[in-house]
Amino acid sequence: MFDNLSDKLDKALHVLKGHGSITEVNVAETLKEVRRALLDADVNFKTAKEFTNTVKEKALGQNVLTTLQPGQLMVKLVKDELTELMGGETAGINLSGAPTVILMSGLQGSGKTTFSGKLANYLKTKKTKKPLLVACDIYRPAAINQLHVVGDQIGVEVYSEPENKNPVQIAQNAIAHAKQNGFNVVIVDTAGRLAIDEAMMTEIANVHKAINPQETLFVVDAMTGQDAVNTAKAFNDRLNFDGVVLTKLDGDTRGGAAISIKSVVDKPIKFIGTGEKMDAIDVFHPARMADRILGMGDVVSLVERAQEQFDEEEARKLQKKIAKNQFGFDDFLNQIQQVKKMGSMKDLVGMIPGAGKALKDVDIDDDAFKGIEAIIHSMTPKERTEPAIINGSRKKRIAKGSGTSVQQVNQLLKQFDQMSKMMKMMQGGGGRKMMQAMGR
Ligand code: GDP
Repeated sequence: MFDNLSDKLDKALHVLKGHGSITEVNVAETLKEVRRALLDADVNFKTAKEFTNTVKEKALGQNVLTTLQPGQLMVKLVKDELTELMGGETAGINLSGAPTVILMSGLQGSGKTTFSGKLANYLKTKKTKKPLLVACDIYRPAAINQLHVVGDQIGVEVYSEPENKNPVQIAQNAIAHAKQNGFNVVIVDTAGRLAIDEAMMTEIANVHKAINPQETLFVVDAMTGQDAVNTAKAFNDRLNFDGVVLTKLDGDTRGGAAISIKSVVDKPIKFIGTGEKMDAIDVFHPARMADRILGMGDVVSLVERAQEQFDEEEARKLQKKIAKNQFGFDDFLNQIQQVKKMGSMKDLVGMIPGAGKALKDVDIDDDAFKGIEAIIHSMTPKERTEPAIINGSRKKRIAKGSGTSVQQVNQLLKQFDQMSKMMKMMQGGGGRKMMQAMGR
C-alpha cells in the first residue's frame, strides 16, 4: 500500500538525519522533497502546499521546545499532519434509525456492489445486525444478479424488483419489507454510470430525498487518484454525503485520493476496501494509515486481526498439547488456516513495522502455504501425530502425493521439529531459556 510514497517520504526525511538542529535551510530542503513526494502520489496541489507550509511553521516554532532529534521531530510532525489531513479521528458509522438506512453512491466500477456486500457482512458479523441488501440499479440486470450472488455468498437477503423501473419506489418498498420482516439495516445499492451525468445525479438525489438515509456513503476507486477527488466533489455537491469509502487500496495505488479527499470535500473516509473478497473491508483509522505511509507499520490493526481469529478454548487445548508433546501436523495445519484468515500475506507484512519496506521487492506469495498444506494432506493420520515415523519410503510417498520433492518434505519436517522444540521451551522455563538457546 502506497509503497512509492512511503519510499519517497523516507528519503526526504532522511535529509535531516545527522543534522544537529533544525534550520530554515534544512527544513526547506526536506519539505521540498516531501511536497514532491506528495505531488507524485497524486495529492492535490493546494493540499500538498498547505501541508508543507503547516509542517514548516510547526517545525521552526517547536524546534527549541523539544528534545527530539531534528529527524525525529520532522517524522513526528509529518505523521501528525498526515493524520490530520486524513481526518484526524476515526469516523464511525451512524447505526441509528429503525431500520438504519444506508445509501451507496458512486460511479460504475467503483466497487459499490462489492462494498455493499462487504458492509452487510461486516454489520452482520461484527455488530450482530440483520441487514437487507437492496438492488436499485434499473438499467443493468447483471447488476441485480451480481448483488444476489454477493448476498448468497454472505447469507444476506437481497431485495429486488427486476420489472420495476422506478428506483425511488423500489427503495421505499424495500424499507417497508425490512420493517415487516425484522431487518434492522437496509443497504441500498444504486446505479452508477461510467462518468458523472445529470440523469444519474437527479436519480440518486431523488432516492436520497425519498428515503432520507442515516448514512450516505460515497464509494470511490482509490486507483483513480485526482479523478477520485473530483468525482467526490461532484457527488458531495448534490448529496452532501456522510462519508467516503475508498476501494482497491490493495492495488498499486499512489495514495493521493486517501490523502486529499478529506481536505477537498471535508467528509471523512469511513471504510477502505482492500480486496475482492467479502472480508476485505477495514474501518479507516487516519493515524494508523499515517503510520503505514511512513513505514511504521500498523501493529494495532495486526493485533486486532489476530484477536478476531483468536479462540480462547482452542488456544487452551493447543497449550495442553504442546505441554504433553502432542503438537502434531493437524494442529500445524489449523494454525496455518487461522493465519490465512487474517488476510493476505502481503497485507499482513505491511503492518509489521519496518517489514513492509525491507520486504518491498520480495514477492510475497499467498500460495506459499499451498505446498505445506499439500504435504500435510498427503500424510496419514498417524504420520501427522507421530512425525518421527516418517522414514525414507514414507517421505517419497508423501512427496509424490503432494506434487513436491523429498527435499521439500525434509525441509518441512525440519522446520516443524524446530518449531516444536521452541514451543516446548516457551512452555517450560519461559522465554529466558529460549533466548539463551538463541544466543542472546
Ligand atoms: P460497482 O459497479 O460500483 O458496483 O462495482 P463492483 O462492485 O462491481 O466492482 C467493480 C470491480 O472492482 C469488481 O471486479 C470488483 O471485484 C472489484 N473490486 C471492488 N472492490 C475492490 C477492492 O477493494 N479491491 C480490489 N482489488 N478489487 C475490488
